[in-house]
Amino acid sequence: MPAAMTHAYREPVDKRQCPAAVTLPPADLDRFDTMPDAAFTMVPQLRCELVAGHGGAHSALVQGSGYDLHWASWPQYAVEKASRCPAAAGPVGPPHLQEPEICLLREGHPGDHYGETLF
Ligand SMILES: [Zn+2]
Ligand SMILES: [Zn+2]
Repeated sequence: MPAAMTHAYREPVDKRQCPAAVTLPPADLDRFDTMPDAAFTMVPQLRCELVAGHGGAHSALVQGSGYDLHWASWPQYAVEKASRCPAAAGPVGPPHLQEPEICLLREGHPGDHYGETLF
């Protein structure tokens, strides 16, 4: 069997992404899964969304509900409501199709900004 087949079930791993992960307590899984207007189906384990080698706490988006974003941080585990990082890389593409390339991380995050083309 080709080696690549062994990892077919995994998400592609960005080498620049922090490898830390956190397992959510069952109570939080339940709470965010049953939240009104929940944007995502909850998964028990979240991967840190920050750049590898970042300072400070690890961070991952847990759930979006309406305009509220809930973020987990660890190893001092906490889930807090916070805004998204306001940074943008500036418009990309031809003028009539321009969209700002927004950072997908939590406001005030340590490390580099992260977006579709920011890494
Ligand atoms: Zn991290
Ligand atoms: Zn950012």
